[in-house]
Amino acid sequence: MMRLSEVLTKREGIIYILSAPSGAGKTTLIKKLLAIFPEIRLIVSYTTRSRRAGESSGRDYHFVTEREFASIRSRGGFAEWAQVHGSFYGTPRLPLEQSIRRGRDALLDIDVQGAKKIKKQYPRAVSIFILPPSWRELARRLALRGTDRQASIRRRLDNARREIRQLMRYDYIVINREVQEALKSLGAIVVAERHRVSRTRG
Ligand code: 5GP
Repeated sequence: MMRLSEVLTKREGIIYILSAPSGAGKTTLIKKLLAIFPEIRLIVSYTTRSRRAGESSGRDYHFVTEREFASIRSRGGFAEWAQVHGSFYGTPRLPLEQSIRRGRDALLDIDVQGAKKIKKQYPRAVSIFILPPSWRELARRLALRGTDRQASIRRRLDNARREIRQLMRYDYIVINREVQEALKSLGAIVVAERHRVSRTRG
């Protein structure tokens, strides 16, 4: 018989999907969330986009050429992949499956197309959409970041409008008005999902 104290820990890992339009403050939130829950494994995506200042390969993304990306894709190495802002992005299948099989929760930082594909394959995944408090604030944050050119900012804003229309497909919405407040909501979602009776293996 299973030990009662193991009821909540002996379970399959949970997949948390976090999506947000660029400029919503998602990267900062993810870093802080992982500092609070270091047991959650961030699944590092592959991308063909060029590396921004301060980013490192293997930590932020695995930066690859289009050819390398296509080769991994043709071998079925991605659980999902999508074209975002003109570059390719993909979630590696192996670390994701290893993680959930071993009972370790996994975090995916992916766009709405990716979220849809993951939900289809892993219906128990939990999807969370992070919203900026206003359009004006979104535009301000994008301009402030200074890593993107004007044309790219415009493209990201257009994309944000399209993404936000998909909001209703998600399980949870968190508005990032203030980091600590948003972090508290994210933490509450993570904990509540771990306590679902339907996830126990009892
Ligand atoms: P950025 O270029 O600003 O790092 O990311 C652009 C967008 O691509 C973000 O919305 C991010 O969540 C998304 N993204 C990053 N990795 C993946 C991935 O593996 N798959 C999908 N579908 N989207 C991703």
